[in-house]
Amino acid sequence: MSEHGCNRPHRDRRQALVMLLGGGLAGAALGTPRQASAGATQMAPLPADERFMRLAIAEAAKADFPFGAVIVRDGDVLATGRNLGKTTNDPTAHGEMVVIRHFVAARPADELKGTTLYTSGEPCPMCMSAILWCGIGRVVFAASIEELARKLGQIMLTSRQVADAAPFATVAITGGVLAAEALALFQK
Ligand SMILES: [Zn+2]
Repeated sequence: MSEHGCNRPHRDRRQALVMLLGGGLAGAALGTPRQASAGATQMAPLPADERFMRLAIAEAAKADFPFGAVIVRDGDVLATGRNLGKTTNDPTAHGEMVVIRHFVAARPADELKGTTLYTSGEPCPMCMSAILWCGIGRVVFAASIEELARKLGQIMLTSRQVADAAPFATVAITGGVLAAEALALFQK
């Protein structure tokens, strides 16, 4: 009796520990697909990507700093934007921020969901966060942050790292479309 009385709490503690560990492992296993369904997915370029990227690069060629962006849905360009940092005395006027502002000036913000944003430079953490808050479904960029950092100062977080830190958002990212053409604007 005394042995039973003595061992039982010990066995219960062990069972509780096993359940905790088991629960932890089960939680980790459940966490894996949740993690994979949120954040960024890498996506191969689509046939139309170069056409829209050329429009973004044309915007970049007119910009204060050579960055331009367009927002597209179903093959239609719904907004264009370019860096206006000097023109508007606004250091946050990156091409992506400007194209989003142009879009919502003309349409309900809800319509950003499911659009594709083309940008001549990989979105910085500020712009990538804005893209995620807006529910934009896909980002296509030309030059990467790593490539841009050789031209001018960058915050060294990739768009993917920012997206992966946002469990509420799912975004497809395609990089490197016409990167050389976008980078060539820095030589001018
Ligand atoms: Zn930015």
